[in-house]
Amino acid sequence: MLFSEIIGQEETKDKLRKFVETGKIPHAILFHGKEGVGKLPLAVAFAQYLCCQHRENGDACGKCPSCQQIAKLSHPDVHFVFPFTKSSKQNTCSCLMPEWRENFTSQNGYFTFDQWSNVLGDKKLTIYTSEGSEIIHKLSLNSYESEYRIMIIWQADKMEIECANRLLKTLEEPNSKTIFLLVSEHPELMLTTILSRTQQIVVPTLSNDDLKSALQKNFSVESEQDADEIVRISNGSYTALLENIKNENENNENFDFFVQIMRTAYTIVQRLPNFNLWTLRDWAETAGKKGAAEQIQFLQYAQRMLRESFMFNFHHNELNYLSQKENEFVERFAPFIHEKNIYELMDEFAVAEEHIRRNVNSKMVFFDLACKIMVLIKKARE
Ligand SMILES: [Zn+2]
Repeated sequence: MLFSEIIGQEETKDKLRKFVETGKIPHAILFHGKEGVGKLPLAVAFAQYLCCQHRENGDACGKCPSCQQIAKLSHPDVHFVFPFTKSSKQNTCSCLMPEWRENFTSQNGYFTFDQWSNVLGDKKLTIYTSEGSEIIHKLSLNSYESEYRIMIIWQADKMEIECANRLLKTLEEPNSKTIFLLVSEHPELMLTTILSRTQQIVVPTLSNDDLKSALQKNFSVESEQDADEIVRISNGSYTALLENIKNENENNENFDFFVQIMRTAYTIVQRLPNFNLWTLRDWAETAGKKGAAEQIQFLQYAQRMLRESFMFNFHHNELNYLSQKENEFVERFAPFIHEKNIYELMDEFAVAEEHIRRNVNSKMVFFDLACKIMVLIKKARE
């Protein structure tokens, strides 16, 4: 990972470069700050910068053997410690290096503790006491290729107390060629004796400008307004931004799908020239092909849209939680939703949701739902 690949954080990068330039490299650095600001990427980029054989223009070269090994997280002198769950097959982090590498590389270093928990399929991850012995063992080996041996400890506050004590011992007798890079969102949970032996670097939240340029570089967003809104609700966190983009995409898909069935029902009820019963079946078939989680998400989204449309009739704008696009649709759709059909419509979507959860054939569930929507929309016109 190069400094240039990291979003923003120019001041922090300068601080790290300065350590190398002046030769005053702390033997333990703690990167702390909010989730998603780039603490782990900074630690990895710093390790790469330290080990690079041809540093240039304030960054690692990205080409030398050392850089290439770090890019694959397989440098023999750069070790990783992270929370995991012990089992008979896995006693130490080393057993999970393939998963760790894959996860780090696919997300370019920007991922949350929750995402890592999902990868491992467990929420209660820990850095065990035995990892402390493992750290000491790894550091007792001679360095293979670089001048330094580097130990990157991600989520350092997740260390068991005994592990922390063992680490403390190592920090008390520092070896000039060993560098600890600790990463934490909750340093207040760490031993003060450890904190006092580290150089603390506060990694600030990202600026809206930095987030916006990262967004525009990596994703296509419909409008400038949408981009600004996503950036605003991400509060300076790149992982929050990634999550919000994912939600936005899902929301757009759900919106299109909702509009499609309501338009179809309306066209059929009104017997408009483009009236076609087959479209109901096509819609149900498409819905049936989605995964259960997606189907449930859509059904919940539809219930929200129905509720918002009903409320729209009372002009309670302060109760409105709609995007601009949704709002424009609801304006035209609201007259079809009122006390004659809202409760039944909501019920039908809730029943469909329940059926999907119980693994009822989803094409049938959606076809049945589509027919009932048609009947209930018709009811509104009578
Ligand atoms: Zn290099």
